[in-house]
Amino acid sequence: MVLVATVCATVLIATFASGVARCWWLAGVCSLAGAIIGLGVSFPQWQMFGESICAVATQRKFVALTFDDGPDAENTPALLALLAQRKVRATFFCIGNRVFQQSELVKRMAAEGHRIENHTFQHSPATNIFSISRLREDLTQAQAEILQASGRAPEYFRPPVGLTNPRIFRVTDELNLKVIGYTARGLDRRNDPPEIIVERLLRKLQPGAIFLLHDAGVPRERLLAVVTLLLDKLEADGYQCGRVDELIAET
Ligand SMILES: [Zn+2]
Repeated sequence: MVLVATVCATVLIATFASGVARCWWLAGVCSLAGAIIGLGVSFPQWQMFGESICAVATQRKFVALTFDDGPDAENTPALLALLAQRKVRATFFCIGNRVFQQSELVKRMAAEGHRIENHTFQHSPATNIFSISRLREDLTQAQAEILQASGRAPEYFRPPVGLTNPRIFRVTDELNLKVIGYTARGLDRRNDPPEIIVERLLRKLQPGAIFLLHDAGVPRERLLAVVTLLLDKLEADGYQCGRVDELIAET
């Protein structure tokens, strides 16, 4: 963003100084830089600003299930019961202020072998334009809440909506957090049937894949139907599921 502002300021100054006609090429450079940076923000898997782990190189048929935006007082306990029944451990990218409100549930998630990781404290839609100090404050607060509730400080961070920028990587480096993206997301907030959501994930199935779903903000029955169908299909194809840290340990 700083780069875009700098380039745009240069174009404006040059426009006034030299006349509009001679500055078309600068306007073009400005648009191109803005477009490239916008794409870098939107596609963390392109690694333009820093390393996002979107998949792991492994030969083993092993994938990681991740659930964002929880914990949710209704959905998460039902999901925990299903995961326990299927003997699957997952990674939950939790929102710090929800962890604060549901600390007993988070304690249970950790006790059942799941990983609780950082998904900001506020989950603000403006996270991507936060200053470094505000980002640092938000992520640090989430770290503290998760440590207090689960007994373990997160090692991983997933930015809201998957958007990244250079400030996010600066703060995650400071806090020693690895940024986790995804190989495929179910887009499970859309009003699609479970089969469509699972198909969306399985289109990108490969050893070492990271799948993204939500345990909050989605209907509970559909969440359970999606996870059941996904686990059935993965099992039929000889895949095992685990946590992100277990997947990363494969390398
Ligand atoms: Zn989120």
